[in-house]
Amino acid sequence: MSENNLVKEFRIYGMATDPIYIGTGGYTIGRVDNTIVRDPITKLPKIPGSSLAGTWRYYVSLELLSKIKDKQPKLKDIKNLNGASLNEKIQEWVKQNPNNWSNKNSNNGFNNSWEYFNGNVVAKITCAGQDNTPQEELSNSPDATNKEGKTGHCGHCIVCKGFGFSKKDLSWQGMIYFSDLNILFFPVFTRFGTKWITTKEILKNAKLYGKNTENEQDESKDLVCIALEKIEDGKEDGHINLGWIYLPYKVENISLNLSEMKIGDFEINRDKIVIVPESLFSQIVNSNLEVRTSVSIDPITGAAKEGALFTSEAIPRGTIFYGDLRIHDKSAFKGLLDKVGDLPDYTMLKEALCDSKHFFETLGIGGMTTRGFGRIVLEIRDEDKNCEKAIPNQLNTGKTDPNGGEQK
Ligand SMILES: [Zn+2]
Repeated sequence: MSENNLVKEFRIYGMATDPIYIGTGGYTIGRVDNTIVRDPITKLPKIPGSSLAGTWRYYVSLELLSKIKDKQPKLKDIKNLNGASLNEKIQEWVKQNPNNWSNKNSNNGFNNSWEYFNGNVVAKITCAGQDNTPQEELSNSPDATNKEGKTGHCGHCIVCKGFGFSKKDLSWQGMIYFSDLNILFFPVFTRFGTKWITTKEILKNAKLYGKNTENEQDESKDLVCIALEKIEDGKEDGHINLGWIYLPYKVENISLNLSEMKIGDFEINRDKIVIVPESLFSQIVNSNLEVRTSVSIDPITGAAKEGALFTSEAIPRGTIFYGDLRIHDKSAFKGLLDKVGDLPDYTMLKEALCDSKHFFETLGIGGMTTRGFGRIVLEIRDEDKNCEKAIPNQLNTGKTDPNGGEQK
């Protein structure tokens, strides 16, 4: 296996179907002003890779347990078997119970579905979240508990091996890496309807720029926006308001690769895109964030507390993000890494992500998800094949189409 085959990289696209709030965790006493995570240099809001990884870890656990909950054996049945380590006992149990631990619908006779990765026999919901038992030895981890009686990361299942775990005798950094999700297209209300703004630099970084435009000179000093299609009948230029900023625009036929840009039911077309000058993008984005004012409720009277207004800002729905996902296939190291035991291969890990990403559409990411924040549709793009096994979105409420440019 060459070095190139060891790490596979995929593009992720996401579209916010709710405003997204991922807080910095900082607040001031008294009036709380909840600010969102921003890139320290560009000041642009983003979804940190760590938030994406933590949330996805949880969703893979949920998906896994919903698929195998009636198939997992009792831990004592595994422990009673012969083997030097729990890992060997798990392999032994799977060997002895081929019919209990398989996907009966598997039509190729060879069962390699990610949910039947051998180590999953000891998976628990506490494989997601923070580890409650990091001081345990790996072999004791599936049923060891902390002072409150909670189990921790099992250290054997596809969640623990894919996303990492750390135990007394082994730290495993995982096999899946997430970049931050950065803004690719940002929706802004204009007098011509909702437009999605971006910049040439972002389009280049996202590799969406067509070949003939790659070497073009940067004209961003002119402070002129570029529309890809005519936005007013018969006019090649004019003025457009982006939120409260009023700017000149011209029509330019720039070639973009938008073929991959179908996210859920939503497709972004050329006529919706406005390229804005680099120097203004951050300002326009930051002045068009969704700001909600809420009030703290007094728990005793049930009425609004005096002076307890607070504001939260969020990335508005309709925002389109891009980022990268890398899967490091370490299954070729089998044998060199005795202690860690069996490893899932990249196909299993990718399918685990594909099968569980639908939870982002219903449970969301970030804070205040019970108050109408956080839902996002994610797409994983792969040269070979996309997530075609992914579960269709049955809970689609029609909110995936952000057209209409509501500004709250
Ligand atoms: Zn686990």
